[in-house]
Amino acid sequence: MKNIATYDFTNKRALIRVDFNVPLDKESLVVTDDTRIKAAVPTIKKVLAGGGSVVLMSHLGRPKNIPENKFSLKNILDKVAENLGCEVQFASDCLGPAAFEKSSQLKAGEVLLLENLRFHEGEKKGRVEMAEKLAKHGDVYINDAFGTAHRAHASTAVIADFFPEDKMFGYLIEKEIKSVDQVLNSTEKPLTAIVGGAKVSSKITIITKLLDKVDNLIIGGGMAYTFVKAQGGKIGNSLVEDDFLDTAKSIIKEAEEKGVNLLIPSDTIVANEFSNEAQTKNVAIDQIEDGWMGLDIAGESEATFKEAILNSKLILWNGPMGVFELEKFQNGTKEIALAVAEATQQGAFSLVGGGDSVAAVNKFNLADKVSHVSTGGGAMLEYLEGKTLPGIAAILS
Ligand code: AMP
Repeated sequence: MKNIATYDFTNKRALIRVDFNVPLDKESLVVTDDTRIKAAVPTIKKVLAGGGSVVLMSHLGRPKNIPENKFSLKNILDKVAENLGCEVQFASDCLGPAAFEKSSQLKAGEVLLLENLRFHEGEKKGRVEMAEKLAKHGDVYINDAFGTAHRAHASTAVIADFFPEDKMFGYLIEKEIKSVDQVLNSTEKPLTAIVGGAKVSSKITIITKLLDKVDNLIIGGGMAYTFVKAQGGKIGNSLVEDDFLDTAKSIIKEAEEKGVNLLIPSDTIVANEFSNEAQTKNVAIDQIEDGWMGLDIAGESEATFKEAILNSKLILWNGPMGVFELEKFQNGTKEIALAVAEATQQGAFSLVGGGDSVAAVNKFNLADKVSHVSTGGGAMLEYLEGKTLPGIAAILS
């Protein structure tokens, strides 16, 4: 396998699959968060500094296999240019003759952005014909889109076959893989996983996998109430998945058998309605009256969780502790984010991944106070679960 750090890009056109699936303002279609663009800059600059040119390809949003202005990558062109500090050309159809004309004319130091790959059905279907055509845009293929590495799409996996000798990971994917491997393979202890968010059902595979690895497993967010009910607690109108009560019971049992310290909240902030105007009170999590729902963890749980986090050498965090989007119920998630940041400062390695926990660290301005914030929630979880990611396998094979 070739390596981006040592590859000679002189006069080579690098076709880079990036993840520029950034949020746009619904009215103005201006980029509202350019984190993903920033994350790709080191790879692009490396090629340019090495004497090569760059063809960027990405998807944006969920178009229905046809061009739609609101999903056009033209909307992000200025932001890409601003982040790279150079002009960026644009090709308005990734497979059209004009695109091939432009990519074939690129000179060293120049950058071309192709239109949304998902305007063509072949992208998500992983069609070989589309991959083969796309491959003509470059002499060398770099995959730096971790967010789509778990998809076997034309541009993320299938295309790699057309570059048997000249394919490699970009710096971002390299860092993502290294971070997850560090959590999975390091022998440093204690390892604490914090799993929150809405539902047990969507996190069950990862929780089961983590039970073989972690010393502490902290459960927070909406899913905690299913665990509380499974143990006979009264949870009022809190979020619950009755179909998963047995699953929760077996997780509790398995944790005990494997010597994992399973931390379920002991207290909670309950509200009489799902809003910032709700009446609230602080109660034991297994004593919630009917008409009240738990929307955040409370002080005692925060203190217990913080102690475990601050004693950890490795921390993995996926999912908020409560409804952090509402100011009234953000405190638990904020306190946990602060604890993860403090542990990191003390030398722990912390990996934060999964859409909402990333949104949470960003909201509390703590993204640069943790070791790594993953750009690919679904991909990160699948990698942690031990699955083979097509985008990664295609480069390694
Ligand atoms: P997930 O995508 O599964 O990580 O879930 C994230 C969502 O879970 C966020 O939108 C939170 O508002 C929501 N959430 C967290 N705690 C609770 C709770 N106690 N009740 C209802 N929803 C919650």
